[in-house]
Amino acid sequence: MEKANLTAVLYGINDLRLENTPIEEPNDDEALMEMACVGICGSDVHYLVNGRIGDFVVEKPMIIGHESSGVVVKVGKDVKNIKVGDRVAIEPGVPCRRCQFCKEGRYNLCKDIIFCATPPVHGSLRRYYKHAADFCFKLPDNVSNEEGAMMEPLSVGVHACKRANIGIGSNVLIMGAGPIGLVSLLVAKAMGASMIVITDLVEQRLNIAKELGANKTVLLKKDMKEEDTVKMIHEAFGCEPDKTIDASGAETCIRLAILATKSGGVAVLVGMGAPEIKIPLINALVREVDIRGVFRYVNAYSDALALIASGKVNVKPLITHNFTMEQTVDAFNAAKTPTSGAIKVMIHCK
Ligand SMILES: [Zn+2]
Ligand SMILES: [Zn+2]
Repeated sequence: MEKANLTAVLYGINDLRLENTPIEEPNDDEALMEMACVGICGSDVHYLVNGRIGDFVVEKPMIIGHESSGVVVKVGKDVKNIKVGDRVAIEPGVPCRRCQFCKEGRYNLCKDIIFCATPPVHGSLRRYYKHAADFCFKLPDNVSNEEGAMMEPLSVGVHACKRANIGIGSNVLIMGAGPIGLVSLLVAKAMGASMIVITDLVEQRLNIAKELGANKTVLLKKDMKEEDTVKMIHEAFGCEPDKTIDASGAETCIRLAILATKSGGVAVLVGMGAPEIKIPLINALVREVDIRGVFRYVNAYSDALALIASGKVNVKPLITHNFTMEQTVDAFNAAKTPTSGAIKVMIHCK
């Protein structure tokens, strides 16, 4: 197979290059895809701009990209769930399948998980990419390749909402109207939440949240007093939210997430910022507010696909920018420039 395999390789800080790499041969349990769409994630931008996220450091050239869909062009001999010609969404993290976490169904906590574009593991932004076939999900005809790539961030929303136990009648506060806050909003609505209030520092993002179905929005101001902000949030609800999802990772918002949550409620923290921050712990303890972490997602792809295929969730409005693979550097510029107004930047590989 001597076809060109254009690939986006991150060499170091702000050094992203397009070059050809060999097309890999799928193993017995793998499938080779001709890639269709790859979305740019906040983490991809972080690696481009900072060269690291916490302990994960880009020390040698790494292929970027992990929110992807493609068309199967070859399968290994043991593959049964997909076949050549299928369009698939690719779940980027492949765990060991053998450890206690994997066996208990919490494979996102597997210590040996291999996750696309988390150094030193290469990502999927290339013309051809091979992946474990059991982490490829066949897309029905009514789900587009763009939506297939959007299943990755949507899965984060699914997992966050599950961790928060959102259900019929939940009053949900979401901090941050970026891509993860917005997908959490869509999923919370689909799971039956009766009232969803979303906050952000940027009015334009709140307007998008309103279009996507937020009942109310609260524009945060940097210099506002904490008690006043909590009051504003409670006034927006007309009560106190019993579920809060922080999708910002900012200390101010994590503090607010805890303080604003009703006693006995749940504060789920999806956003990750500084490794250590100051939180009102005693306030949470004496009011039995559960603080729960979220690490990526687990067993969420099939749920995300069901939400899209059934029409319960529409992720298309989140895709604000589209680029070809040759325009990858421009695509990343749009993703990293706040004034571009980008929510989700999509790269079309063909
Ligand atoms: Zn992502
Ligand atoms: Zn494992």
